[in-house]
Amino acid sequence: CGIVGYTGSQPVVDRLIEGLRRLEYRGYDSAGIAVQAGDGTLSVTRRVGKVSGLASAVSNVHPEATCGIGHTRWATHGVPSQQNAHPHVSCDGSIAVVHNGIIENFAELREELISRGHEFRSTTDTEVIAHLVEEAYEGDLLEAVRAVTVSLVGSYGLAVTCAQEPGRIVVTRRDSPIVLAHGEDGSYVASDIIAVIRANRDVVVLGDDQFADMRPQGIAYSDAQGETIEPNVMHVDWDI
Ligand code: GLU
Repeated sequence: CGIVGYTGSQPVVDRLIEGLRRLEYRGYDSAGIAVQAGDGTLSVTRRVGKVSGLASAVSNVHPEATCGIGHTRWATHGVPSQQNAHPHVSCDGSIAVVHNGIIENFAELREELISRGHEFRSTTDTEVIAHLVEEAYEGDLLEAVRAVTVSLVGSYGLAVTCAQEPGRIVVTRRDSPIVLAHGEDGSYVASDIIAVIRANRDVVVLGDDQFADMRPQGIAYSDAQGETIEPNVMHVDWDI
């Protein structure tokens, strides 16, 4: 239902919670965040119910973390539960994914992944993406996500981060909205303008099958072939 992400110089947890609060009006059944902890691992916290419940669970957690992703879920596949809440992580815990939309061919992908030894912890359509990115990962998260999207059928807004690449978030979309903003203190992503507008009123609207490679210093944009593209910038002058 809702996606947020931040990588920059400032503490990420508060920024993710603030972004999720701004998306609450859309409705959701659960919420969660994954942040790059200082020790080189990903720390994932998920809760059924309100963002305020998640906020209490993560207050004072990882104040050092400056890169992470968050999600409010509106269940389409799999009951609303903590296990099914996003972010979803790969078997080794190194890849975390938040997803809006529906992966229509998830059942086949899941069968193939299980036959290759992957163990699933949720009944969502989304979890296949975390396992596929883990398999495709050879040291470059952008290339791994680009390779995986070729096998996905359906609609998605995706934000992916990994333990091995500090400060990096990879974003893409198909038939599901994604916007990005370059802020003074870092790079922001969300599924709704309302969650990034405070960072910058010039918002980048990501197109279908385009990729955003987010780093603390800025965001690079490319297409499905890996060619650099000019981002589509929209100036927002309404107030929130
Ligand atoms: N299809 C995914 C799920 O059920 C994502 C739902 C959403 O967009 O919140 O977990």
